Amino acid sequence: MIYFDNNATTAIEPTAVDAMQPFLREHYANPSSGTTFARHTRQAVARAREQVAALLGCEPGEVIFTSGGTEADNAAIFSATQIHPDRKHLVTAATEHDAVLNHCAWLEANHGYEVTRVAVNRDGVPDLAELAAAIRPGQTALVSVMAANNETGVCAPVAQAAALAEENGVLFHTDAVQMAGKVPLRLASTAIHYLAISGHKFHAPKGIGALFVSKRVRFQPMLLGGGQESHRRAGTENVPHVVALGQAAACALRHLEMHEAGEDPVRTLRDAFETGLRALLPGVEINGAGAPRTPNTTSVRIPGAPAEGMLILLDQQGICCSAGSACNTGALHPSHVLAAMGRSPEEARECLRFSFSRFNTDGEIQAALPVIAAAADKMRRLR
Ligand code: PLP
Repeated sequence: MIYFDNNATTAIEPTAVDAMQPFLREHYANPSSGTTFARHTRQAVARAREQVAALLGCEPGEVIFTSGGTEADNAAIFSATQIHPDRKHLVTAATEHDAVLNHCAWLEANHGYEVTRVAVNRDGVPDLAELAAAIRPGQTALVSVMAANNETGVCAPVAQAAALAEENGVLFHTDAVQMAGKVPLRLASTAIHYLAISGHKFHAPKGIGALFVSKRVRFQPMLLGGGQESHRRAGTENVPHVVALGQAAACALRHLEMHEAGEDPVRTLRDAFETGLRALLPGVEINGAGAPRTPNTTSVRIPGAPAEGMLILLDQQGICCSAGSACNTGALHPSHVLAAMGRSPEEARECLRFSFSRFNTDGEIQAALPVIAAAADKMRRLR
């Protein structure tokens, strides 16, 4: 099997599995307990918080563990709307993940909010001038713009967007689920107030993530109950997964530091894939090619080869990739991300996403390319 679907989820880093094992077996104490037995567990959670903070470039006290990216996004929106109950306007981008879009839509449908969804250009980048014009000082509760898109890898100028929001006294959230672990982050030097990450996108298990909350802003918890996470997220911590998240963060940081000066091997793989595909299939188009992108993602349109058929043929050959977002698998409607980038429904149906990780090899790229080209030829002939 060749796994090129790392934006859907990733294989767990082996050292992260090792790190969590003792917390599934012998160290099962509740970290909130006052016993000596619990001390080790508590220390492990504190260490994981430091590891995640190091990956994000923030302070450990600014990290709240969550059940994943969806919860972190929802908690940020919830917090902002509760802190400013009188502000009934939200700004987001047309290409956001459903974890943000659907919460905004729910507030709009049921709670009297007005939502401005800022358009993106043909490369998928939201327009900063439009964003600035959309912000209503004193009325906008939150600006939420994703750092990197899950379907295309296109990165938004979130540092500038956050600065714009802050200048206007508005809270700023970013969904960095597809950026964390792939691109260095230094949150302390930005105006970002809230930021969501998800462990399973960078080699930690599923069901664990974190929300960064800047120490400069207030936070209203969404989950109420016990005093865990410094009263910001009630519920006994998922200690084994928290530990694994910390270990995966430490590995990702090492990978990023090692390659920051030179070429990132994941980018080299992705670029080799794109070059190879273009050579084999002239006419292939890369979505968002003109914008900064995460180094691991390529969204390609193969004219004349519908993605649905391609997915079946590639799956038969043991190649995993996806059409649009994996979260939308099974849905035949074309991706809202590609539509926002100006793709017609027919064009969007010919788009495939290949997403790589540091566990992929050049051998896999070279093995997959002719298989993809043959599948595309077959689809074109069938047409
Ligand atoms: N945000 C983005 C950009 C994502 O790609 C995903 C998952 O695909 C999520 C949020 C949701 O994260 P989780 O699966 O951890 O809830």
